[in-house]
This record gives sequence, C-alpha cells and structure tokens, in this order.
Amino acid sequence: MINNIKIEMNANKNNITFARGAIASFLMNCDLTINFLNEIKTIISEAVTNSIVHGYKNDENKKVYLEFILNNDELTMVIEDFGVGIEDIEKAKEPLFTTKLKEERAGLGFTIMEVFSDKMEIYSAPNKGTKIVCYKHLICNECND
Ligand code: ATP
Ligand code: MG
Repeated sequence: MINNIKIEMNANKNNITFARGAIASFLMNCDLTINFLNEIKTIISEAVTNSIVHGYKNDENKKVYLEFILNNDELTMVIEDFGVGIEDIEKAKEPLFTTKLKEERAGLGFTIMEVFSDKMEIYSAPNKGTKIVCYKHLICNECND
C-alpha cells in the first residue's frame, strides 16, 4: 500500500497530542503492537515538541509541517519547522545536550528519536529552520516481517 498525508498545524502544545493521534490514525490499518506504535508516536511528539519549544520559542502563530509516507511496510515521517534552526547538529544530537535549563529539558529528544527510528536525518540551518526525517520498517503483529 502506498499512502501519503501532509499536515500543517500551529505551533501549539495541544497539537503535540494531535500529532500523536494523527500518526496512530495513519497507521490504523497496520497491525502494530502497542509498544511499537508507542515508539512511533514518541518520535513524532519529540520532534514536534522541539519545533514548538526550540524552533518557534512557543510562538503559536508559527506553523509545523508533518508528512507521513507509507510505502508498503516502510514508514517515513517528516517533521519540519521554519524557526531558529540548529547551529551545531552533531552537538545537538549528543545525549543530555540542551540549550534550555537542565531543570526544564533533559536533552534526550534526539537520542530517543534516533533509538526508536531505523534511521534519522536532521537538516537544519540557523534562521532557516529544521527538518527531521525518520524512517521505520513496520513490523506488524500477524506477518511479523
Ligand atoms: P528534551 O527533548 O529531553 O526535552 P531538548 O529538547 O533540549 O530536551 P533534544 O530534543 O535532544 O533535547 O534537542 C537538543 C537541542 O537541539 C535542543 O536543546 C535545541 O537547542 C536543539 N533543537 C532541537 N530541535 C530543534 C528545532 N526544531 N529547532 C531549533 N533547535 C532545535
Ligand atoms: Mg527535545
């Protein structure tokens, strides 16, 4: 099955829950375990949170863009913002690295997204924005492939 959906949403924290629901709905017909689906939902919420909190500094007038692509059992998820961007991508990916206060953020979002994805790509430039592309091979309950 080939399917593709694009979503444009305001950088509002309520939309983190929406985005988690959206990917779950997109994958409704795939027979995934709860744990597997939770990994996918977590990738989305970490990336969307980053766009809202870091990219747009909580300015809810700005837009976050999602794209979900399903090509048989290959899932691609794109999360994009046109916010402040990342100066040093390698540094940002390091576990526990955060530009916010330690009490506020753990600095683990990218680490979690990378662990739960088969592959994660980060495209970002200061004042241009950030695009995250995560790939995951779907393992369905019944076929187990
Ligand atoms: P946590 O995700 O654990 O709450 P965090 O968001 O700081 O903490 P990561 O998600 O790993 O940790 O992100 C690391 C750093 O990369 C952030 O502190 C921020 O500086 C930068 N960053 C991540 N995503 C974006 C983005 N969309 N736009 C701008 N900067 C970003
Ligand atoms: Mg984060």
